[in-house]
Amino acid sequence: METTIINPSETKTNSLIAQMGIYNHEQVLFCNDNATGLKAIIAVHNTVLGPSLGGTRFWNYNSEAEAITDVLRLSRGMTYKSSVAGLNLGGGKAVIIGDPRKIKSEALLRRFGKFVNSLGGKYITAEDVAMTSRDMELISMETKYVSGLPETMGGSGDPSPVTAYGVYVSMKASAKEAYGNENLSGKKILVQGAGHVGEGLISHLTKENAKVYVYDINEERLAYITKTYKAEVVSADKMFDLDIDVYAPCALGATVNDNTLSRLKCKVICGAANNQLAEEDKHGEQVKKMGIIYAPDFVVNAGGIINVYYELEGYNRERAMAHAEKIYDNTWNVLQTAKKENIASYKAANILAEKRIEAIAKLNAVM
Ligand code: NAD
Repeated sequence: METTIINPSETKTNSLIAQMGIYNHEQVLFCNDNATGLKAIIAVHNTVLGPSLGGTRFWNYNSEAEAITDVLRLSRGMTYKSSVAGLNLGGGKAVIIGDPRKIKSEALLRRFGKFVNSLGGKYITAEDVAMTSRDMELISMETKYVSGLPETMGGSGDPSPVTAYGVYVSMKASAKEAYGNENLSGKKILVQGAGHVGEGLISHLTKENAKVYVYDINEERLAYITKTYKAEVVSADKMFDLDIDVYAPCALGATVNDNTLSRLKCKVICGAANNQLAEEDKHGEQVKKMGIIYAPDFVVNAGGIINVYYELEGYNRERAMAHAEKIYDNTWNVLQTAKKENIASYKAANILAEKRIEAIAKLNAVM
């Protein structure tokens, strides 16, 4: 695997093979079934570390080109996430094209399961956007290469507590880099999004006596959070102007952007949301220039994939939690590499991911 950081904008080519080459993908499987209306793409990015694992996204893409770009980017992202997390997993992803409300059916999902099965374990699927645990159950009728199943089906269940713990320890490592001390007691922390992961994070932070500010678009959720934890609700228009130490995005992507960076006063950004940097290169460099310690999202939120990984081995939550604790060291290593090389932290994370894959590839070549 080459140690080149690939910019998604470089993929503006009509040739699929050329796109696969830019991202260094191993295999892409196009799936079609007229009887059920299934149109899907499974992308296997890299299997050096182990079978490729990543969720299936059901989405009504505007064009086939958009679906291809998405599945290529997302599968590559999974390779990097699992590599930095120290898992023996490669990166893969699948997309089913179409409006799930109109075309999702048992037959379609089971047909998709047969396609997953045809890859013989090179790709393991899991839940993603617009897929439910019932959908995964249907897919699993046709293939054993499914993970992230509910506990009632012998699976690992909700990954959020493991993800939240990973975010918490990552924040401690980031605080150590920013303040020379990992203690979060008294630190002013803004948690944006108090859903499954946000709540778990708030629970850890309030136990450590951090001063938690919270915002969520769902008012009922906020009422529940303030009843349960010592947290102060803030408004959407004021939250980015607060005097805070840490910003924890736990709702949506792209919240580290021109607008928020012109207002944020924090020293640390560390949260669960995927794709936090609106433009990876631009905003990754900007946070570095501003002296903000940015813990790369895919390093921070690896608890979800860690949880699913342990399901493959016969699930044990203690082992998953123990592995999630390593997100502290992973974050620390990324931040130290970024400092030493004087590069943005997301780049440092990519380099560490690629180095591990290269090292294991060499090892695999030894008889
Ligand atoms: P969730 O759906 O349980 O919670 C999201 C919360 O964000 C909800 O309470 C929602 O009301 C709120 N929200 C939505 N839009 C908002 C906005 N504009 N401003 C403020 N709040 C808003 O999701 P989750 O499982 O807690 O995941 C949170 C984030 O972490 C997501 O981006 C997810 O992709 C990512 N993530 C989650 C896991 C996991 O294990 N659950 C793993 C990796 C990454």
